[in-house]
Amino acid sequence: MTTIKLHNTRTRTKEDFVPISADNVRMYVCGPTVYDRAHLGNARPVVVFDVLYRLLRHTYGADHVTYVRNFTDVDDKINATALARQQAGAEGTLEQLVQERSNETIGWYLHDMGALGALEPNEMPRATQYIAQMIAMIEALIAKGHAYAAEGHVLFAVDSWKEHYGELSGRSVDDMIAGARVEVAPYKKNPMDFVLWKPSTDELPGWDSPWGRGRPGWHIECSAMSYELLGESFDIHGGGNDLMFPHHENEIAQSKCAHPHGEFAKVWLHNEMLQVEGKKMSKSLGNFFTVHDLLEQGVPGEVIRFVFLQTHYRKPMDWTEKKAREAEATLRKWRAQTAGFEPAANAAPAVIAALSDDLNTAGALAELYRLAADGNAAGLLASAQLLGLLIPEMGEWADTTSADLSLHADRLADARAIAMQSKDFSEVDRLKAAYLAAGLEVRMSKDGVELVPGAGFDAAKLEEV
Ligand SMILES: [Zn+2]
Repeated sequence: MTTIKLHNTRTRTKEDFVPISADNVRMYVCGPTVYDRAHLGNARPVVVFDVLYRLLRHTYGADHVTYVRNFTDVDDKINATALARQQAGAEGTLEQLVQERSNETIGWYLHDMGALGALEPNEMPRATQYIAQMIAMIEALIAKGHAYAAEGHVLFAVDSWKEHYGELSGRSVDDMIAGARVEVAPYKKNPMDFVLWKPSTDELPGWDSPWGRGRPGWHIECSAMSYELLGESFDIHGGGNDLMFPHHENEIAQSKCAHPHGEFAKVWLHNEMLQVEGKKMSKSLGNFFTVHDLLEQGVPGEVIRFVFLQTHYRKPMDWTEKKAREAEATLRKWRAQTAGFEPAANAAPAVIAALSDDLNTAGALAELYRLAADGNAAGLLASAQLLGLLIPEMGEWADTTSADLSLHADRLADARAIAMQSKDFSEVDRLKAAYLAAGLEVRMSKDGVELVPGAGFDAAKLEEV
């Protein structure tokens, strides 16, 4: 069995991964808050941890890995949408409209991430289904002296865990107070104390609790759900590095204090952020887009995945149109090369070795290029599929055969020949415009006409020409 090495944020070293139990390797990844479509940056951890999930399944067996990713469906923005819909005349109670909005965005999320070739985790708990477990955990924290109730809130007392708080991100409590956007509130004993439970107003969703009607803080969700589904010690906890502080520090504080005999997560993995054309993605810069936007523009999910895999997860990754075009050309070539082949029994050892070295996906892709250059179609197929590429169901976008395109090229050539006689080029112009709109490059010369698929090529549009 290949030894997997992973960079553990907690120890700041690359370590041999040794699961607590090889029979059930357990991984928890912080999932999305489901208030709207996922933007492209949200998709990065999904693809990163999907690759790890696939590698773990390959190494330990598909039935010996449990992957949990939550949905945070307690959120002010979800409530705001529900309230706006109610005010616009939508039927149903506010609670129903909140749930409707969550269901809608969860459906979008699963569709969009599925389009990127991400396998669904074994468990996808929703926060609202674990409120009782969160209340129980908060009660345990109060009983152990790690939390206190004040003015309808319950707060975690950071001073009760001061010697360990900040260990993951490598900061002291004093540094954090100086640097963080700490919400100062009169009921807090220490400004760093964070919310486990807060009151709900009448028009907001809320649950009965020993501290009145209210709702959980965000951090306690992950502690309660990971405990319920994976136990007090599990193998891997993942997420974007923007979650390291305060979210992951707070998860550790809650979980270790509520279950002092447990280890919580042994290995912490954090992915770096995503940029677009060298800039941070933001609504104000006008470079903000969702996965859905890209799919609608005709960028295949497989192409997005390929671009992501070109950058190591611990490095910032830059999304560019140029990369997407090149990825599309490569995948189109590989799909043509492997058409009609069955995958080899195993992925190439060099591909497994690269992935096992702290998920060196760029190294794994380099091996795929080598297999393609060697003409090893079966090996290329098996190895690419371990990375979630060249999966048959994801290849519809590349389906148009060159025979179809040459028929269209002949049609354009014929129209041109007729136009040369009649001097009426309107049909030629119409065809050219239609092929361009389908994402084809139109090359016309004395020798003939060639149609070359470009980025965003959409075969379905050819049917209407
Ligand atoms: Zn979390």
